[in-house]
Amino acid sequence: MTSVPTATPAKRLVRTAMPGPRSLALSGRKAAAVAHGVGSTMPVYAARAHGGVVEDVDGNVLIDLGSGIAVTTVGASSPRVVAAVQAQVAEFTHTCFMVTPYEGYVAVAERLNALTPGDHAKRSVLFNSGAEAVENAVKIARTYTGKQAVAVFDHAYHGRTSLTMAMTAKSMPYKHGFGPFAPEVYRAPLSYPYRDGGLSGAESAARAIDHLEKQVGADTLAALVVEPIQGEGGFIVPAPGFLSTLLDWCRSNAVVFIADEVQTGFARTGAMFASEHEGLVPDLIVTAKGIAGGLPLSAVTGRADMMDSVHPGGLGGTYGGNPLACAAALAVMDTIEADGLVARASDIGELVAGRLRRLQADDSRLGDIRGRGAMIAVELVDASSGAPDPGLAKAVAAFAHGEGVIVLTCGTHGNVLRFLPPLSISDALIEDAFDVLESAFASVTSTM
Ligand SMILES: *Cc1c(COP(=O)(O)O)cnc(C)c1O
Repeated sequence: MTSVPTATPAKRLVRTAMPGPRSLALSGRKAAAVAHGVGSTMPVYAARAHGGVVEDVDGNVLIDLGSGIAVTTVGASSPRVVAAVQAQVAEFTHTCFMVTPYEGYVAVAERLNALTPGDHAKRSVLFNSGAEAVENAVKIARTYTGKQAVAVFDHAYHGRTSLTMAMTAKSMPYKHGFGPFAPEVYRAPLSYPYRDGGLSGAESAARAIDHLEKQVGADTLAALVVEPIQGEGGFIVPAPGFLSTLLDWCRSNAVVFIADEVQTGFARTGAMFASEHEGLVPDLIVTAKGIAGGLPLSAVTGRADMMDSVHPGGLGGTYGGNPLACAAALAVMDTIEADGLVARASDIGELVAGRLRRLQADDSRLGDIRGRGAMIAVELVDASSGAPDPGLAKAVAAFAHGEGVIVLTCGTHGNVLRFLPPLSISDALIEDAFDVLESAFASVTSTM
């Protein structure tokens, strides 16, 4: 960019049709240069972003309710992150931790070991993406247990690499045409309170355990991998007791319990990690997304004996724990603490859920409002049949996009609107965004 950054006003501003002429020109270049398999929620090109808004190349200012998919939890240009990365980039950009190591990586591991649930001895290892960390957690569990099978759940999302694609539930678009898939991955039924007929946490856990015992066998199962609140699958919060019953079963059967907190971690849910809401102490915890303010970083943190079961050289990668990403991660952790962002996530959650409940009171298309902290969603349904209504989710999101509000959808049926604003956003921006959503619900009908 040659333009001089000027302060973006911290309020919504729609100057052009959405997308504007400069974004349209860039979309043309994208179509000619970028593989068509890469989609965009909104074809609006970012120029700068901070404090809950994204300014586009046409001077429109959009309210950000997506945080680049739960990544910019501290904001998209958070001052401590900017300063830390600028300082590090001038020192060195890379040496490879496996060649000549550096302190930032060690410091991030120390902080992760201290921050994650449980006071037992822990180790951490750093990677670049969530999927890469999930794969490595499975490698560690297989080495430690000497077993091979991996259990995952309905609606799960764990990534797009070969192994994690097998672990992800939804076919289109994540898996369609990309098989064959990695073997020894087994899917169990989830606890989905809105749609599983009122099963309690213990009952739905018993159902999953019975399924795994009959179809896999604990003696072949290396790990159970679960999102404490499902992300892409629809922000599904399992019934209380589901996760703890599974954890107990894992402990009694020498199965490694892996919490995939890639989307739920780092203050997002009103706790540092979502496992804390139920007092869970996972064996291994996988983090990414919110960890480093947008710089590519991910981690596996877990019990020292499990982590250290892997032979020297068995874990690593050229870029894993890049020094810029480590500097950013330390600044993110400082910012969460200094700015009280765990509590802020809870406040944002109350505001968002409150606005959704007000809408739901006289619109039965808002079927289920759920989530925790600043990770809230609404499942949209046909008012008479209760069937998932992806067309309505699409129409509401399109209306919001046109009015300068970035909102994301998710869910196996695509009928869930999810809200995960940066925690640096103001209440005023959230209120304005929900005024737009209120108009959306008042004016749109399902497009399918
Ligand atoms: C996004 C996500 C992943 C994959 O992370 P990438 O960085 O996109 O590879 C894995 N698990 C969960 C729960 C996620 O939300």
